[in-house]
Amino acid sequence: MLPLSGGKRMEIAKGIHRIACTFGERVVYCHVIVGEERTVLVDTGMAYSPEKDIFPYMERIGLGPDRLDLVMITHSDVDHQGGNRPVRQAAPQALFACHVLDAPWIESADALIAGRYSQFEAKHNIGYGDEGKAGIARDCLSDVPMDWHLQGGERYRLGPDHYLTFIHTPGHTWGHTVVLDEPTRTVIAGEAALSSSILGVDEQPALPPTYCYIDTYESTLERLLAMDIAVYSPSHWPVQRDQAVKTFLAGSLSYCRETEQKVYQLLRETSEPLTLKEIIVRLNDALGRWPATASQDLSYPLAGHLQRLLNRGLITETTRGGWAAYQAVR
Ligand SMILES: [Zn+2]
Repeated sequence: MLPLSGGKRMEIAKGIHRIACTFGERVVYCHVIVGEERTVLVDTGMAYSPEKDIFPYMERIGLGPDRLDLVMITHSDVDHQGGNRPVRQAAPQALFACHVLDAPWIESADALIAGRYSQFEAKHNIGYGDEGKAGIARDCLSDVPMDWHLQGGERYRLGPDHYLTFIHTPGHTWGHTVVLDEPTRTVIAGEAALSSSILGVDEQPALPPTYCYIDTYESTLERLLAMDIAVYSPSHWPVQRDQAVKTFLAGSLSYCRETEQKVYQLLRETSEPLTLKEIIVRLNDALGRWPATASQDLSYPLAGHLQRLLNRGLITETTRGGWAAYQAVR
């Protein structure tokens, strides 16, 4: 394991600190943005991340939790919102903000588990099981009401001539939102772009890229590609700078387009309708290399692609053995 935590200061641009919060074999980078007058925390990690990683880092740069003015959550996922309650308890003066579309799944771990993490059970027989969901519930202490519902485009002042802009970047979730630090042209990017896999703490693929809603995901990537970004700091990937930013975003976009082609090609070549489980088994090796137990998370992007192929009229949906199954229109 790389020495990500434990004392390493990482200021990626003036006043912007990238804090490694490890969980198992994975890592989520939370950020503290320090302005002359205001201080913002972006994402709170898992339930234990504030005590284990975020507050110790802040202490090392001379910031107590009482210095936080705003806590912004990029999107509804356990590893980005799980520490909300501990942060609220340590920093009761700080306002909490997230996009209005993600607020229901951020303010309630039960809603997140019933919505996001159980969405493939009834139709596709794919899920995390009771034990998996109990683990998510333990790691997700996020029952904190959001004080401020964002819609994208809002600006927040940190000091003289220093503003953040919140940019709505849906695709991984409906309300995913990134933070642009205007003076340094740094984007705190969350999972707006998911490359060709989510990386673990060793920077090797740990999970498939879990984008969900293809049309909005592609629009997000095109929007970010059109921006002049100097520093791009995503939640599960290394910091990208200058030209590497566009390479990272363009790579994410081409992976998405190529994956849709692979799904369509498979359904054209197969005479029987295929379930999502069967599609995952057949395409897994062509889509990336991650631990075998992570393959089922291909359900997020592949369900998205199946929905768009249905929208495009290129495939039809039927049932086989009680589960949804798909075939190409002949
Ligand atoms: Zn994440």
